[in-house]
Amino acid sequence: MKSDLGDNHKIVQLEQVRKARSGEDNIIAILKDTKRIAIAIQQRTCALCNNMRMCVNKTGLCAECYLNLSPKEKKIADEEARHKKVELKVTDDRWAGTKDY
Ligand SMILES: [Zn+2]
Repeated sequence: MKSDLGDNHKIVQLEQVRKARSGEDNIIAILKDTKRIAIAIQQRTCALCNNMRMCVNKTGLCAECYLNLSPKEKKIADEEARHKKVELKVTDDRWAGTKDY
């Protein structure tokens, strides 16, 4: 058996670089997906890393992902965030009235 672990490692790294490159368009597509961002904000689930975090802001991203955006992506995210309106909704379970005891 010949060992070509080193080569495999190189291939993996190239894949990652390629993924990261083509990833910019994907990120922008996500940032501009208004529905997806709205759901992300509502559910406090980052639209990029899909982690549930309390720090998800109006861009639909957690602080970590937001900080990792390129300046171009950040500009788009901020522009999109300006259109988002977040409302705090409070309900009381006694308002429903129809409870089965
Ligand atoms: Zn994230």
